[in-house]
Amino acid sequence: MTDKCQYVRSDLSHCRANRMRESHFCFFHDPAMAAKRTLSRKAGGKHRRIPTPADSAPLRLSTVSEVIVQLENTINRVRDGHINAKDANAIGCLSGILLKALEQGRVEERLTALEQILHRQTQAESDLEFLDGGLNDES
Ligand SMILES: [Zn+2]
Repeated sequence: MTDKCQYVRSDLSHCRANRMRESHFCFFHDPAMAAKRTLSRKAGGKHRRIPTPADSAPLRLSTVSEVIVQLENTINRVRDGHINAKDANAIGCLSGILLKALEQGRVEERLTALEQILHRQTQAESDLEFLDGGLNDES
């Protein structure tokens, strides 16, 4: 007996999953597992995310440090089973976008500061040239 599931789909392709021990099919195609699959689906529905008060509280995420604290919190809640992998992935993805946006904001602030310094420097130089011109006129 091959190790692969013997299920044939309507397009005549074979299921490529490994068969279960003592069966010709994988868990998803074994007719004897239909009741178990139904129970698993229902259990999956019940074991979705467990809401806690902390979940609904708005998070402060305006600095990299605050995002890091929330990521640490999320990682620990995934590990203790309070957040499922799907929600954790969404939080991780959004945190990545947020960190990039925070970094972009910092770059823009630094650029603005540099532009202001450059503007002041240019202004000071043109003021000096003006004063030099005035001194030269007197000589
Ligand atoms: Zn199968």
